[in-house]
Amino acid sequence: MRPKTLILKVDPQNPSINVIREAARILAEGGLVAFPTETVYGLGAAADIREAVLKIFKVKNRPPDNPLILHLADPEWLPRVSRNIPSYAYKLIEKFWPGPLTLILPKAEQVLSEVTAGLPKVAVRVPAHRVAQLLIKELGKPVAAPSANRSGRPSPTHARHVIEDFNGQIDAIIDAGETLHGVESTILDITLWPPVLLRPGAIPIEEIEMTLGVKVTVPEFARGIRESEEAIAPGTKYRHYAPMAEMILVEAEDYKNLDKLVEKVKEIALKKISRGVKVGILCSDETAHRYEGLGLVVSLGPRSDSFIIARNLFKALRSMDELGVEFIVAEGFEEKGLGLTVMNRLRKASGHNVVNAV
Ligand code: AMP
Ligand code: MG
Repeated sequence: MRPKTLILKVDPQNPSINVIREAARILAEGGLVAFPTETVYGLGAAADIREAVLKIFKVKNRPPDNPLILHLADPEWLPRVSRNIPSYAYKLIEKFWPGPLTLILPKAEQVLSEVTAGLPKVAVRVPAHRVAQLLIKELGKPVAAPSANRSGRPSPTHARHVIEDFNGQIDAIIDAGETLHGVESTILDITLWPPVLLRPGAIPIEEIEMTLGVKVTVPEFARGIRESEEAIAPGTKYRHYAPMAEMILVEAEDYKNLDKLVEKVKEIALKKISRGVKVGILCSDETAHRYEGLGLVVSLGPRSDSFIIARNLFKALRSMDELGVEFIVAEGFEEKGLGLTVMNRLRKASGHNVVNAV
């Protein structure tokens, strides 16, 4: 029989040092610990223990060519994992670390090739969550951690999501309640100039452009329009964030007038309902009242606040599954600020099942 997963509850602002020590000891001995970050929960292993890193791939059922992000306690640890760091990277590090920005940098020799999936570059960030920082500091070395969900599922924003996916399969979960951003870090390849956005995330690309004074390259795969087969963005070619239910995303050309969008969502929902399918609608505060009687209606928040929409997204996708929804109709959002992040996740979650409201 498998040993049970230890659930360690902590106060996110003032975590018990004994709990942090216990979790760090598990990591030091090659175990897996899920821990909160300001983005989503991560599934951590000591980055220099090969067997521990391989266990992450195994329990997640993650393809071996999808690399992991290294989490550091302090930007000063950077020379331990990277070399030949371009000078403009420091502009971003000063402004955004600790925080939800992952930089792609040249890999240092000592980083295990399993972590980077054999690539010469490594993904690095310094998380801002107090629990994550204390844990990594206590361990005293980098922690390799992807999001703590089974491969392909929506990322976990609550410890209970991690329990759903991994109970009995990992050594411990540090439960510090709901995460702040609810979406993963922004990933930027800073070895190229202009830098290339590999994944939109919790930091809007506009803020990065302002800091660097340059327009960042945004490939189509970063918008979630198609999957990348290119080595430049490993991992993005796989289906991601998918709920159990089938899903369709309704996009609009212009999100100022929402009438056409609402009509299209209604039309699709009604057709499914008439066939006896249990429908869920993912929408916004502005439109929720227009879907009364059309199945389970969940608003992600006000369109004027893309932070809230992003924060609620994964939780809402998982709640659709929890409530037995069979078919999700989701409204699209304008690709500004975190709207780009939201649309990347929605397009992928729907498996690119997208229609335009015309
Ligand atoms: P996750 O933490 O689950 O969001 O997964 C980490 C993601 O970071 C992967 O899916 C990749 O898209 C990206 N990533 C990690 N390492 C690299 C790298 N060396 N080059 C490019 N992308 C990377
Ligand atoms: Mg992930």
